[in-house]
Amino acid sequence: MGNRATIIGLGGVGSVVAQKAGRLGDVFGQITLASRNEKSCEDAKQKTGRSDIETAQVNADSVDDLLKLFAESKPDLVINTALPYQDLTIMEACLRYGADYLDTANYEHPDREGFEYKEQWALHDRFKDAGLMALLGCGFDPGQTNIYIAHMKKHHFGKMRQIEILDANGGDHGLPFATNFNLEINLREITQPGRFYKNGEWVKIAPLSIHEEFDFPGVGIRNKYLIYHEEMESLVKNFPEIEQIRFWMTFGEQYLTYLEVLQNVGMTRIDKVNVDGAEVVPLKVLQTVMPNPANLGKRTKGKTCIGCIIEGEDKNGQPKKMYTYNICDHQEAFADVGSQAISYTTAVPAMVGAKLMLEGKWRGEGVFNVEEFDPDPFMKDVAEYGLPWQSKEI
Ligand code: NDP
Repeated sequence: MGNRATIIGLGGVGSVVAQKAGRLGDVFGQITLASRNEKSCEDAKQKTGRSDIETAQVNADSVDDLLKLFAESKPDLVINTALPYQDLTIMEACLRYGADYLDTANYEHPDREGFEYKEQWALHDRFKDAGLMALLGCGFDPGQTNIYIAHMKKHHFGKMRQIEILDANGGDHGLPFATNFNLEINLREITQPGRFYKNGEWVKIAPLSIHEEFDFPGVGIRNKYLIYHEEMESLVKNFPEIEQIRFWMTFGEQYLTYLEVLQNVGMTRIDKVNVDGAEVVPLKVLQTVMPNPANLGKRTKGKTCIGCIIEGEDKNGQPKKMYTYNICDHQEAFADVGSQAISYTTAVPAMVGAKLMLEGKWRGEGVFNVEEFDPDPFMKDVAEYGLPWQSKEI
């Protein structure tokens, strides 16, 4: 593998990936930053302190535009930290140009509710035939959570029966309401019906209708809500032994009250409405007037705790329950890269996945999810580059 990486989408997550990758010149020998606005790339470049980094403007919705970019930047690997809407165009451009691909979120159709891997998995044979690799969902959740599960399976479990993925953000930015990553993508995710997997079937529930308290290490007791999350789709495919898997995320009461009001007045709608002759999507209007999550770093205090609990049997068939998690401090993340912990916890696994691909330690031909590779080199690197983890029996 070569050492040329092009990072597309220099928002909250992308700018942290750029900084983390920028510090590893021996692996990421050449870096190009490309985004819808070149200013975002220049700002991110400043933070890396590396003068040799190239910047470019690109419309990642256009395959032609992407191919012009790749003709200049000549990537071995394209890291997609733009929005899930751009996954398919960027993958198509990688196929036509001949570059490997990595992202942190699965494809979402701009005009439809929901998200799934179907369209990206359908590209497997084309990537395989071209001798290229695409790595999907290499952020924290999805990403690190899948790898925690693969790691516990490899070292501790003969059979995994029930899995709980637990995501707590105990951070406080002092604002009445703001999301901690892209608002549009975040609200689309949590306002759709919840779903979990049990005995071969997906069970659907009303949005945020199941919740319970949990004592999160480093964060404390919080109310966690059952929502649908994309890593469950690939995990039940790659580990067919799983009988039940659920995903839980914490929300504060004030956040949920604001969300309810916004939903009730129609501001989370994703269809177009006509305002004085202009066609606008209410959720996009909301995103435009709300704080940019990438700028919340300085004021966010507290910790995140994200991890997975597996219940099943150990390698000798004895009952076993184990919890692997990371605690990340918002202020420590800010001190490292000038960003809050959500961008940080997403970007570090993305950088590590990209590093392992460029080094040839994670290599395959086709389209893959992260749990399909050996978790050991990832777990070692991710701890070294900012996200130490802990495992305990419970
Ligand atoms: P931001 O909105 O902060 O950043 C996205 C960037 O994409 C923007 O800066 C924007 O560029 C750029 N962009 C948008 N449309 C285009 C386009 N058509 N062409 C080129 N660039 C474009 O989002 P986040 O950084 O919060 O999230 C980035 C990704 O990470 C999302 O896909 C999100 O779902 C994912 N994510 C994954 C997580 C995980 O754990 N797996 C957790 C959190 C996020 P510009 O600034 O130039 O206008």
